[in-house]
Amino acid sequence: MTAIETGAASPGGASVIGTLSPSRAGDFMTCPLLYRFRVIDRIPERPSPAAVRGTLVHAVLERLFDIPAARRTPAAALELLAPEWDRLLAEEPELATLFDGEDVEGARAEWLAEARAMVERYFALEDPRRLEPASRELYVETVLDSGLQLRGYIDRLDVAPTGDVRVVDYKTGRAPSADFEARALFQMKFYALVLWRLHGTVPRLLQLMYLGNGEILRYAPDEADLRATERKVDALWQAIRRAMETGEWRPRKSRLCDWCDHQARCPSFGGEPPPLPVVAAGAGAPRDEVSPRDPRDDV
Ligand code: SF4
Repeated sequence: MTAIETGAASPGGASVIGTLSPSRAGDFMTCPLLYRFRVIDRIPERPSPAAVRGTLVHAVLERLFDIPAARRTPAAALELLAPEWDRLLAEEPELATLFDGEDVEGARAEWLAEARAMVERYFALEDPRRLEPASRELYVETVLDSGLQLRGYIDRLDVAPTGDVRVVDYKTGRAPSADFEARALFQMKFYALVLWRLHGTVPRLLQLMYLGNGEILRYAPDEADLRATERKVDALWQAIRRAMETGEWRPRKSRLCDWCDHQARCPSFGGEPPPLPVVAAGAGAPRDEVSPRDPRDDV
């Protein structure tokens, strides 16, 4: 059983009862046991080639806007791939062992070719020479009336001369089927809620750019949407609290299990979870760690 923090204070003075990011909120909705493994047990996961490719493509698209607008061409973007990969390798040398099997060089070449294709696909969706983002990898956080702190990183924020705000997120997977669209939009509404609470203005447009197949999903939220999102994240936090109090983290099988690193310790696959970590009294609720780019988000 895990203790729950109740007494911390937000910068604004409100009492913070817990912290949630869209990634980990999505984990809990996908599978409460997955949330436990990631947030409570903090079990390290081996990065998959697909996830690392997502990190690389995101890094290229972020750096692209450092280049003067007129020179933001596909060739210039592709030239960023090698130095950004070198930078990632320097930060995480273990990525050098990302590929195994008999044909490591072949697997690496195929992986890089797909990264190149994603960068090229981006240019089929929009022309970065005509854009000047207001922010990239923007960290945002707010505390809801309930005391729940929401936080995360927004890939890109565009602000029109009219003041209209567009929230942009790149995905290196393929656009979801109608069944999974709501989940994809939840993350964007989460960010819109944080921005609305911070600045008092509802973003005009939420835009998900799927570089796996070159599709864009757009959604124009309104206040009612964001109030519903607030109710949803508050209800999610209540469900997480209940799981922390009871120690019951149920596995929920879905096709996303194919990408789960925890099958060996998951009861749905014949495994057994490790004992829950012992938490010192007063240690508080586990905090969602957020990073500019969670490589697990795209897969
Ligand atoms: S394998 Fe599936 S059910 Fe098991 S923890 Fe992972 S996502 Fe949940």
